[in-house]
Amino acid sequence: MPKVFLTRRYKFSAAHRLHSETLSEEENRRVYGKCNNPAGHGHNYCLEVTVTGPVDPETGMCSDVEELDRVVKESVIEKLDHKHLNFEVEEFDGRVPTGENIVQVVWEILSKSLPHLYQLRLQETRDNFFEYRG
Ligand SMILES: [Zn+2]
Repeated sequence: MPKVFLTRRYKFSAAHRLHSETLSEEENRRVYGKCNNPAGHGHNYCLEVTVTGPVDPETGMCSDVEELDRVVKESVIEKLDHKHLNFEVEEFDGRVPTGENIVQVVWEILSKSLPHLYQLRLQETRDNFFEYRG
């Protein structure tokens, strides 16, 4: 059966500070630059979730979009939206909330409920985004 990839886009806003506990203050400033500012800063993130599957001949669809929306909103968006990732999201205890780590945390959460998860794409700014395929 033909396999199709379906992507849905979600939005959330969150604050973070790029700061590693294993680096000195000076090294943190050098590595993260202004993103190491102690007060933190925020982004409007765009998360694209791609699932894949055979096209059901009866429905003509490869995925239940309502179920996908429900899972992403309940398990990811509600957890991250309008939060300070360093202080309010336990997955970032001891883990710097960089785009690289955020996209992996989202994968860890979603892959438990979405067996046909194929790719995540996290857009952090206009010019930078992170892709992860588990
Ligand atoms: Zn940032």
